[in-house]
Amino acid sequence: MKVKITEQGWGGHFICANRCNFRRNTLVEYGEKRIVVSTVGNMSSSGGDKFDKQIGANRYYETMVFWAKWEKPYWEADVNKQVDLESDWAIGELEFETDLKANKMHENVVKEISDLIKVINEPENDFCPCGNLKADESDVCKECL
Ligand SMILES: [Zn+2]
Repeated sequence: MKVKITEQGWGGHFICANRCNFRRNTLVEYGEKRIVVSTVGNMSSSGGDKFDKQIGANRYYETMVFWAKWEKPYWEADVNKQVDLESDWAIGELEFETDLKANKMHENVVKEISDLIKVINEPENDFCPCGNLKADESDVCKECL
C-alpha cells in the first residue's frame, strides 16, 4: 500500500490562519488512516505585508500534526487528536528567507509522518458526540449515558 499525499490550500489549524502569509496543509493517507500536517506562519496584521507578530510563544511559524476527521466535503485536522513529532516544528525568526525554512520544516514533518502513519493507529476519540469528555469505558459522557 502506498502513502498518498495531497496538498490542500486552506489553513489547516490555528485560529488566525487566514492572516498567515504562509500556510501549508498536507493530507497524508495510508489506507483508511489519515493525518493532516499543517504549517502556518508569517502572520500579517490583515493579510498581506509582513508584520512582526508571533503566532505562539517565541515562534513565527509552527507545524502541527493531527489525525484527520471528515467534515463534508473536507478532511480537516481533528485538534483533539494531535500527533507528537520528532522533527523541528517551530521557527523563532521572521526574515525575508524564512518562508523557505518553513517549507523545509513542513517537508521534513510530512516525511516523518509518511513513515509513522504506516505503524501507528488512530487513538480512540476521548470526546462524546455532544462535546463532553467520555466517561470511563464508555462511548459517551456521563450526561449522555
Ligand atoms: Zn455527551
